[in-house]
Amino acid sequence: MKKSIISILASVLVLGNFMGCANDESNATDISEETISLDKTSYIVNYTAASADLISDICSYLEEEMPKVNEFMGIDKPAQKLKIYIYPTLDSWKKHLSDIGMSYEEWIVGHASNWQVHMLNFHEYKKLQSHKNDTFDHYKKTVVHEYVHNAHFQIKTSTNSCGFLNEGIASHLAQQYDTAKINLSAYSDDYFFKSSGYSYAVTQAAIEKMVTNMSHEEFLKYLKDANYYYNNKESLIKLWTDRELKKYEWKTYNDGSLEFYTENPAFSGSMSKKTLKTNTDSFEAFGKQDSGAAASGYGFFFAMQDWQNFYRIRITYDGSLYIQIRKDGTYNYLVNSENVDCIKTGLSQSNNFAVKNNSGKLECYINSNLVYTIENPEWTTGEVAAYGAASPATSLAYNPVRLKYLLNK
Ligand SMILES: [Zn+2]
Repeated sequence: MKKSIISILASVLVLGNFMGCANDESNATDISEETISLDKTSYIVNYTAASADLISDICSYLEEEMPKVNEFMGIDKPAQKLKIYIYPTLDSWKKHLSDIGMSYEEWIVGHASNWQVHMLNFHEYKKLQSHKNDTFDHYKKTVVHEYVHNAHFQIKTSTNSCGFLNEGIASHLAQQYDTAKINLSAYSDDYFFKSSGYSYAVTQAAIEKMVTNMSHEEFLKYLKDANYYYNNKESLIKLWTDRELKKYEWKTYNDGSLEFYTENPAFSGSMSKKTLKTNTDSFEAFGKQDSGAAASGYGFFFAMQDWQNFYRIRITYDGSLYIQIRKDGTYNYLVNSENVDCIKTGLSQSNNFAVKNNSGKLECYINSNLVYTIENPEWTTGEVAAYGAASPATSLAYNPVRLKYLLNK
């Protein structure tokens, strides 16, 4: 339910004839006392006299299209018999949406939930500003679109969901848009992974490109598990836009603070640095993590000679300290995952790091507490750089890592 509300609210940008959304919870609403129920092999349609003239056309279209959707999804037997409800008036439609906690938007004329499809009747639909130019053909496709959401839900193996993917497959299998003129490379990397705020025609174009460029078996992996979709961002971006996915971003603010941002699982565990000071034997700086998993951690390189030779101090927001030396490319831990009380724990808690050269020894401080002394340092001067990496890979796409650093002036 929650998912569908979000996706509806955001789809206000949608152009053209569209209208549908998916939700996962069951909430049938009685249409009225004059409801007519037509019981078919694979579905029951509940309607009133207001839409009686179009019922046989809707049914014959569904009977053509539902088996195609099932075959595409690999569904031998739908989990339930589909229940379709067609609301006779705009008021009854609004009341239904209100009863299930969905906000009314003028362009929304259908939605799906737990083997149910709910639709405003076609004659009322034609009176709406958003749909006045639509034909009955558009309307029938919307019914199929809502059915696809149900079939898709049946084959999902993960509870994670991506609105862009959900609407893309529903629009694709319902053949709702002419996508010939859509240039996918005009859209940002993030656009393809949004849970709301996209154009349905673009979602359809993106899914079409996947379907035509990969085996059906491979495509179904994306459909079944949104994690798989998020985890393959890099190759999907390449397919859609022919450009490389941005691995990470460093942003510099006027106050001298830096931000490291990544949501790319391919970047997991690897490193990025941003130089703060060169050729120094001491530094003091703040760091904090605003989002992402604790495993990501944040900290600083110091006495850095090059990528193969440096010290690194890193903490995690759940309170662990790591100090490492990398010499000629080989890492050794000086402090390995020690719980340190002076670390302020939690997201968005700023921690102060310092390294001071005290008569040739390098003293490491967290929030002014001495946490480690490097007695015989390999190097005492070098570059100081903010350190960013991301972990764990599986959560990055929907839980991106955002770190902030500020060097004391
Ligand atoms: Zn939809």
